[in-house]
Amino acid sequence: MAVEEYKIITKLFGTENLQDIEVYKANGGYQALEKALKMPQDEVIQQVQDSGLSGRGGAWFSTGMKWSFMPKEPDGPSYLCVNADESEPGTFKDRQLLENNPHQLLEGVIIASYAIRASVAYIYVRGEMWEEMVQLEGCIEQAREAGYVGENILGSGFGLEVVMHPGAGAYICGEETGLMQSLEGKRAEPRVKPPFPAQRGIFARPTTVNNVQTLCYVPHIINHEADWFKNIGNSERYPGSFIFCVSGHVKKPGLFELELGKWTMRQIIEDLAGGLYNGRELKAVIPGGASTSPMTPDEIDIVMDPANFSLPGRGEYQGMFGTGGIIVMDDTTCMVDALLNLLNFFEHESCGQCTPCREGCPWTRDIVWRIEHGQGRPDDLDTLLEVADNVAGFLSPRYSTICLFGPAFSYPIHGFVNTFRSEFEAHIEQGKCPIHKDKSIKLSRLVG
Ligand code: SF4
Repeated sequence: MAVEEYKIITKLFGTENLQDIEVYKANGGYQALEKALKMPQDEVIQQVQDSGLSGRGGAWFSTGMKWSFMPKEPDGPSYLCVNADESEPGTFKDRQLLENNPHQLLEGVIIASYAIRASVAYIYVRGEMWEEMVQLEGCIEQAREAGYVGENILGSGFGLEVVMHPGAGAYICGEETGLMQSLEGKRAEPRVKPPFPAQRGIFARPTTVNNVQTLCYVPHIINHEADWFKNIGNSERYPGSFIFCVSGHVKKPGLFELELGKWTMRQIIEDLAGGLYNGRELKAVIPGGASTSPMTPDEIDIVMDPANFSLPGRGEYQGMFGTGGIIVMDDTTCMVDALLNLLNFFEHESCGQCTPCREGCPWTRDIVWRIEHGQGRPDDLDTLLEVADNVAGFLSPRYSTICLFGPAFSYPIHGFVNTFRSEFEAHIEQGKCPIHKDKSIKLSRLVG
């Protein structure tokens, strides 16, 4: 069966002047907001919870349940914070959503704010997305003039300010508590949880943090109701569609919105992304952004359902579904060099608060660097795995760092070394990289 895209939130991509509120309204825009404002707030939350919508930022927690944690009768301001700080290597869908259909996000933001009783919504946009920020600010002003933002929205008695906030340009600003720190004007150093944001978030007030893609689904769920969304796709636990980003050694890299639980990784790579270019062979696939472990060609018949992915030792495929950022690598790729490239990135982005992350990340990066450059030692692989296992908490009931960044750089170490151990050993035994005889094509040189 040929793979077919199932377009919900990407359906209007390519519509001319969609950033103009009148064009968006002519395509059904803001009808969901008008409908939601006539519903009791808890009914909006219930609709979203019943739909089965889960957070698309990688955590897959129930969106409606997250909203239900917010106070029903707040004794002061509550906030919505939108995480548009998309920075995971290989993941580029939020940027496309912001660029191609900004009012869809804005409508989702206003409905979500109404449901959780937020008086201000901050949209924290990655600092590099300058054009998207300028466009979004214009859209907020259009929405204000149309009566969708500001006091007493459409006569409902509900008022909301929406603020676009430029990000500080660091990967860790995308961690929800790091993001809140940054929004408050501080260094983006993640906070210990609990307290969770719904208890004590921005400015010590109740806060919900949602990802861009998650909020884009909200207007569609309100328009079509919970059962419609619940019956999309074949996943029992995670209904709906999802945007996969495919990059790397494929003929047609790009975004593909698909039903969850229906198609395999192989179908996405071969049927939608056109397969590998230049007739090369597949060597490995990173399934969900830089912090997920690589899969081998014999593993890619897995159906793309987050429930089929789990942490090492706990599921069918011992890896993470992550953000849907699929990075394809062909048989010319050196897996030591690929891991070095990832670790160069992570080493640069650690905030430095926790010793296992601050010290472990450069330590492991340096070990991989010397293996790739012909200076590896016989015990290096065991050391790498031991450091990674300690940081990620595979050897203890819990990871050893404040936030998940520590495990995030440890999972690929675990995956690359265990899956491609013979290639790492060949580097150490031969005292050189056996793949890249032409050093000029090294991935690691781009960053390191
Ligand atoms: Fe910072 Fe790393 Fe600790 Fe996260 S795990 S708080 S990024 S040092």
